[in-house]
Amino acid sequence: MTIANVLIVGGGIGGLCAAIALRRKGIEVDLVELKTEWTVYGVGIIQQSNVVREMAKLGLLDAYLDAAYAFEDVGIYNTDGVPLVRIPGQRLAGPEYPANVGISRRALHKVLSETAIALGTRVRLGTSIEQFEQDADGVEVLLSDGSRGRYALVVGADGLFSRVRSLLFGDTYQPQFTGQSVWRYNFPRVAEIDHLANYQGPFGNAGLVPLADDLMYLFTTSHEPGNPWMDERTLAEELRKRLTGFGGLIEQLREQITDNAQVVYKPLEAVFVDEPWYCGRVLLIGDAAHATTPHLGQGAGMAIEDAVVLSEELTTGGNLADQLQRFMARRFERCKFISEKSLLAGEKEMQKDPEFDRIALVKQMLEVTARPV
Ligand SMILES: Cc1cc2nc3c(=O)[nH]c(=O)nc-3n(C[C@H](O)[C@H](O)[C@H](O)COP(=O)(O)OP(=O)(O)OC[C@H]3O[C@@H](n4cnc5c(N)ncnc54)[C@H](O)[C@@H]3O)c2cc1C
Repeated sequence: MTIANVLIVGGGIGGLCAAIALRRKGIEVDLVELKTEWTVYGVGIIQQSNVVREMAKLGLLDAYLDAAYAFEDVGIYNTDGVPLVRIPGQRLAGPEYPANVGISRRALHKVLSETAIALGTRVRLGTSIEQFEQDADGVEVLLSDGSRGRYALVVGADGLFSRVRSLLFGDTYQPQFTGQSVWRYNFPRVAEIDHLANYQGPFGNAGLVPLADDLMYLFTTSHEPGNPWMDERTLAEELRKRLTGFGGLIEQLREQITDNAQVVYKPLEAVFVDEPWYCGRVLLIGDAAHATTPHLGQGAGMAIEDAVVLSEELTTGGNLADQLQRFMARRFERCKFISEKSLLAGEKEMQKDPEFDRIALVKQMLEVTARPV
C-alpha cells in the first residue's frame, strides 16, 4: 500500500532528493528546513558514477549535467605530481552519459531545490520539528512555528546533528571528531585538471576537483589532535602550512592561497546508527543516519541513494513496516561499508601507515558502489 503523505525534516542533498523521488511517485511532501536563508557554502562536491546513475533515476540528469563539470577518470599522483595510476570511469547511467561529475554545492542545491518545488513539494524555511507522537496509523508532529500536522511517515534528513535522531534514539548516537580536518579553496580551473586528481604520500593527501570550465577546488586533509580552534584571520596561512612538502601543481597553487575568507575549514565528525534507522513511522536517511568522512567522496552519494531506494520501496507493495524493512536491507550494509572504509582511510593517514594501499581501497569502493543498489 502506498502511503499518502510524508514530512521531510531537512532540505539538504538527501532531503531534497527524497522530496523529488517521492513527488515523482505521487506522494504528498512537506519539507521543513531550519535555515531561514536556504543557502549552502560555496565549494564543490565530487559525485561518482553511482550518483550519476541515481540522478538519472530522479529524472534530473540533463539539468544536473548542465550545472556540473563532467569527467571520466580519476588520476592518482604522488605528492610531487608524478602519475601513479589512472582509474577509468564507469558510465553507469548509460554510454551517452559521463562517468563522474564535479559540481559546486550551490549549483547542486539550485537544481535540487528548484526541481523539488516545481514538482509540488511544500517547503517551509526557518522551521524545525519540536516533537512527534506516533500511533498505528500516523505521526502527529509539532513544528517549531507552533503548527501541527499528521503524516504517514516522517523522514529525518537533518544531517550530522539530527534533531530527529535525538528524538528517536536520545543521546545514544553522538557525532565524534575523527582527529582530522578538511581544508578547501576554490581556484580558476587549469587545463590539466579535467579529471579528479588525487595527490598522496606518506605525509599528506590533497586533491583537485574540476567544477566548471573556469572553476576547480583544492582539498586537503590534516591531522588536528584535540580539534583546535582556528582563527579565521590566519586560515590562508594555516592552509599553506599544511600543503608544505607538496611539489608540482599543488606547490604552485599553494602560493595563491591568500584570502582567509575563501578558506573553508571543517573538522571531520562521524556518526553511524548501528541498528535500523527507523522506529515505527519515523526514519532517518543521509548524514542523520550515517555521516562519515569525505575520504571516499561518497557521503552525499549514500544520501542520494537512500532517497531513491526509499521512494522505490514505498511504492512496491506491503505495509509500511515491510517497506522500511526492505529499505534497510538495501541500505544498511552498503552505507556501513562506506562509513567504515572512509574512517579507515582517515586513520591510516593519521598513522602515516606506509602499508596502506589507498589505490586498492578506491578500486574496491568503486566496485562496491557500481553494484545495483
Ligand atoms: C569536507 C566534506 C567534503 C565532502 N565531500 C563530499 C564529496 O565530495 N562527495 C560526497 O558524496 N559527499 C561529500 N561529503 C559528504 C556530504 O556533504 C554529506 O554526506 C551530505 O551533505 C549529506 O546530506 P544530508 O542531506 O544527509 O545532510 P546535510 O547536507 O547536512 O543537510 C541537512 C539539512 O538539514 C537542515 N537541518 C538541520 N537540522 C534541522 C532541523 N532540526 N530541522 C530542519 N532542518 C534541519 C540543515 O540546515 C541542512 O539543510 C563531504 C562532507 C564533508 C564534511
